[in-house]
Amino acid sequence: MTAEIIDGKVIAAELRGRVAEEVARVKREHNLVPGLAVVLVGNDPASEVYVRSKHTQTQAAGMASFEHKLPADVSQADLLALVAKLNRDPAVHGILVQLPLPKGLNTEAVINAIDPAKDVDGLHPNNAGRLAGGFEALSPCTPLGCIILTKSVHASLEGMNAIVIGRSNLVGRPLVQLLLNENATVTIAHSRSRDLPGLVKKADLVYAAVGKPEMVRGDWLKPGATVIDIGINRIPKEDGKTRLVGDVAYQEAHAVAGAITPVPGGVGQMTVACLLVNTLRAACAIAGLPKPAV
Ligand code: NDP
Repeated sequence: MTAEIIDGKVIAAELRGRVAEEVARVKREHNLVPGLAVVLVGNDPASEVYVRSKHTQTQAAGMASFEHKLPADVSQADLLALVAKLNRDPAVHGILVQLPLPKGLNTEAVINAIDPAKDVDGLHPNNAGRLAGGFEALSPCTPLGCIILTKSVHASLEGMNAIVIGRSNLVGRPLVQLLLNENATVTIAHSRSRDLPGLVKKADLVYAAVGKPEMVRGDWLKPGATVIDIGINRIPKEDGKTRLVGDVAYQEAHAVAGAITPVPGGVGQMTVACLLVNTLRAACAIAGLPKPAV
């Protein structure tokens, strides 16, 4: 048996198309143009690539995109002043401060300063707390993307055994909450978990968000399991270049799983598409409109 490949590229493109339709509708019916402001501090090359892709995709969806580039040595006060200005700006419905921030800046204070209604990264404690309580919230984009990818192969996740490997605030923890909201039975594993292969063996749904290249092996998996690989690891090639691999040993897992996401071309594609979803949802909520159809 070989696994069905969950094509994040196709699913993300379809989602971006639906967002664009809804953006056109709210523009037409309510004269509302959702706006996303992205703040980039410093010039980390990976962050620059992400920010450019967010800008292009936001505009392609018909939304307004505002980019703010600050030098790596910006003061905490100046960064907080920009966040406060964006909080007040009626054309801005989503604020994303690209992480990681350069050393010397207090990430927690910056996240806490974002208006929770505009917190499209879903990292503000208000949103994290609401999600944990099972209430309506802006949820982090990568975990949202993971749920959409899973639902492309399972109409319902109810009663399924899921394991989330990794417990970061950005990925693992919010993913656990979203899976609970889908009525899955969730195990959360981390660096102190015992017998990880044994835990993974029981799971119908396996989410790897660790940051360790190809850590999850094919023989850990229950045959037919759905594998969502969140890891993005750059490893050196013989020619001096690098290649991307996930947290799952893809070839081995592909031979055992029922469905699997590739890296690249899986979860990574969904993150920006879900950022657009969150921006549209935030804009509608701030304008007092009903939740959009995405
Ligand atoms: P973090 O480093 O914040 O968290 C890693 C988690 O993995 C921690 O909870 C850690 O446990 C756990 N862990 C580390 N080693 C082991 C181990 N040997 N066994 C089990 N668990 C372990 O990473 P992120 O959550 O931010 O990111 C995870 C991966 O996802 C990375 O590869 C990152 O690049 C990728 N990523 C991909 C995105 C996308 O768009 N596709 C977006 C965001 C991240 P403990 O808590 O005990 O330390």
